[in-house]
Amino acid sequence: MAARFALMIDPVPADAEDGDFAATFQVVDPSAPALSVSELSTQRGDGIFETIGVVDSHPQEVGAHLDRLAHSAGLCDLPVPHLGQWRQAVARAAVECGPGEGAVKLILSRGVEHGPAPTAWVTAAAAPDNTVPRTRGIRVVTLDRGIDSGAAERAPWLLLGAKTLSYAVNMAALREAHRRDADDAIFVTSDGFVLEGPTSSVVLRFGDRYVTPATGTGILHGTTQISLFDHLRASGRTAQYEAVPVDALVRADAAWLVSSVRLAAPVTAIDGRAIPVDAEATASFNRYLLSPRD
Ligand code: PLP
Repeated sequence: MAARFALMIDPVPADAEDGDFAATFQVVDPSAPALSVSELSTQRGDGIFETIGVVDSHPQEVGAHLDRLAHSAGLCDLPVPHLGQWRQAVARAAVECGPGEGAVKLILSRGVEHGPAPTAWVTAAAAPDNTVPRTRGIRVVTLDRGIDSGAAERAPWLLLGAKTLSYAVNMAALREAHRRDADDAIFVTSDGFVLEGPTSSVVLRFGDRYVTPATGTGILHGTTQISLFDHLRASGRTAQYEAVPVDALVRADAAWLVSSVRLAAPVTAIDGRAIPVDAEATASFNRYLLSPRD
């Protein structure tokens, strides 16, 4: 997604009074250099980010994304973001996505090495066409994440619940999935539990029960999954967080990978074994996910 708009942010302290933060924003050319070569985001992947889906200029679930940004900042010992300032930056960027679907990306980096402050910016881009994964579905493979289900608690410095800029492992997992003739991956723990996709959450249906892996095991709490579970519960369905053993995957009556821009992609096969596709539920999930959500 090539950015068509970029805004540098001069971050204010979290306890600064609310107001108009326009003076702390600077529009920059998205195709021109904007970062110092000493930036720790580029040198070490030391920073955090969020990607917010946008539909017809409406940024989706901004509150949930900002809450997760603040959570990631806490885990990474970054200054607490001022949510009012970020909200205004998101609104400014969202209108630049153009009509249809787009994405606003928020980045908070530790800044320039030995520098005084973090570096912060947002970008806006048009979203790729996701019709094919949403309608035809995706084949996935399970990949060992190399950690057990106690790692997040035992080793918080692994930053497992934070959405950090260090996505090289996640991208390598996608390349490995492609090598195995699949479209995407599901990370699993070395002791046999389902985690998440490299850029998505896992949602399964067993009978009339919707299930997602319990958080606290080193996965991100997905804003799309939270919103979908709220929607399912509001319409009387059962939606639960559970420890999901890997061998339960092939017993699922339907499975999806869900995320902010691709939305709900039905899984058609896991490790080469076909999974039933619930086309009706998928279409209704994506209709809901494309409706304006706050
Ligand atoms: N898990 C990981 C590792 C992700 O990178 C993402 C999104 O990029 C998600 C889950 C899904 O999060 P969301 O629904 O907020 O996009």
